[in-house]
Amino acid sequence: MSLIGGLAELADVLEEGSVLTDRDVIAAYRHDWARDPAAGWPTAVVRARSTGDVQAVMRWAADRRVPVVVRGAGTGLSGGATAADGGIVLSVERLRGVRVDPVTRTATAGAGVLNVEVKRAAAEHALWYPPDPSSFESSSIGGNVATNAGGLCCVKYGVTTDYVLGMEVVLADGTALRLGGPRVKDVAGLSLIKLFTGSEGLLGIITEVTVRLVPLPPPSATLVGTFASVDAAAAAVVAVTSAVRPSMLELLDRVSVNAVEDALRMNLDRAAEALIIARSDAPGVAAREEVAAMERICREAGATETFATTDPDEGEMFAAARREVLPALERRGSILLEDVGVSVPRLPALVRGIESIADRYRTVIAVIAHAGDGNTHPVIVFDPRDAEAAGRARLAFTAIMELALELDGTITGEHGVGRMKRQWLPAYLGEDAMDLTRRIKHALDPQWLLNPGVMMLPQ
Ligand SMILES: Cc1cc2nc3c(=O)[nH]c(=O)nc-3n(C[C@H](O)[C@H](O)[C@H](O)COP(=O)(O)OP(=O)(O)OC[C@H]3O[C@@H](n4cnc5c(N)ncnc54)[C@H](O)[C@@H]3O)c2cc1C
Repeated sequence: MSLIGGLAELADVLEEGSVLTDRDVIAAYRHDWARDPAAGWPTAVVRARSTGDVQAVMRWAADRRVPVVVRGAGTGLSGGATAADGGIVLSVERLRGVRVDPVTRTATAGAGVLNVEVKRAAAEHALWYPPDPSSFESSSIGGNVATNAGGLCCVKYGVTTDYVLGMEVVLADGTALRLGGPRVKDVAGLSLIKLFTGSEGLLGIITEVTVRLVPLPPPSATLVGTFASVDAAAAAVVAVTSAVRPSMLELLDRVSVNAVEDALRMNLDRAAEALIIARSDAPGVAAREEVAAMERICREAGATETFATTDPDEGEMFAAARREVLPALERRGSILLEDVGVSVPRLPALVRGIESIADRYRTVIAVIAHAGDGNTHPVIVFDPRDAEAAGRARLAFTAIMELALELDGTITGEHGVGRMKRQWLPAYLGEDAMDLTRRIKHALDPQWLLNPGVMMLPQ
């Protein structure tokens, strides 16, 4: 049977307009934010409207051995949602609908619902869904679960996996199953929810998610501190985390500050080598006290200037500035975005090492970090028209990962391995854990149809 004939068969069992083959439409679904130049041309994009649709696609694909790339909102930064030649891109963007149960304090959402929409629905009941990737307004809850997304408040509130109580997932053979539910405690059986969380679309397609909600936090107090060196700022982060439990602790270096200032004109100190944004959402006067404690620590660590505010809107302006860094840097050239992490005490060594890598490879590396977690995003900015500069940028990318491994850190703290970091996963996991990972993949997807090339290549 020709593939076109096969596609028609698939289209027949789905609602009209679900299977898209127009080349312009397909082009928009080939990449995520990593824009992998090796992305293939899929035969079609399928926009599922229900779990039943996802099952139909997987049964169809399994019968014909057609690769399927799962796509949420396409904001991934590791190339996980990169199309395969001749395959299907299965988009879950139309799996919509969110229900909040204020009694069990849970929200159940279709995989395509955006993180911000879950937050809004929860807020209507004075509840809160904490995980807040900077992309919270554009990334899907299914994608957040598939990548185990982190974010700005995770330093206090944890990452996505800490909130996932249940899910519906479709396996590579089309079987749909439900795991967990609105129960805060549940240890029956293996932790399959944890297995699928962060599995980057390799093991199954998440169609619905149930997450835990918490009461809305009190208004935050915010501290901004500027430093004459990134090293001093990193030392301040270490000191803050050993004394206080902030609800945000972010670090921006001079390149990042200037990129934001160009974009937003907030009167940030362009000469500062580093800027720290810290928050406390402790109740009542405790927020002000925690911020005062963090201010003292920053000054002792050498902050040249500090600014504290209890005005939530003013505080939000700084958080928005932090979220703007990446889009602002993207406007300066091509970027290679790192996501390495170390234990917090090793942050100064990581930051110093990144500075010397920038010198060694004569390349601009902006540093932004969820510093309170030790998770850094060195952003290598280069001119894509200069092949030699692009080559140096790639060498710097590798050197940063090797540095993280030397410091006993991880090659990715929250963006995932995807295709961009596949080659370094064995060095991080070691032979036995890599072999176990392969065996799990093989058990759940024996034809290796889901997300080919993500995390590992078939053997
Ligand atoms: C400006 C910007 C800022 C960002 N900031 C952060 C941040 O602070 N923290 C952070 O963790 N990430 C961040 N990211 C990365 C990205 O937003 C997250 O990885 C997000 O969780 C991806 O969600 P998505 O819906 O866009 O998924 P996609 O990009 O579509 O997919 C990501 C991966 O998950 C798989 N997948 C998606 N949906 C499903 C599903 N339903 N079932 C199974 N597999 C699925 C895909 O195959 C792919 O491997 C940022 C991205 C941008 C562009």
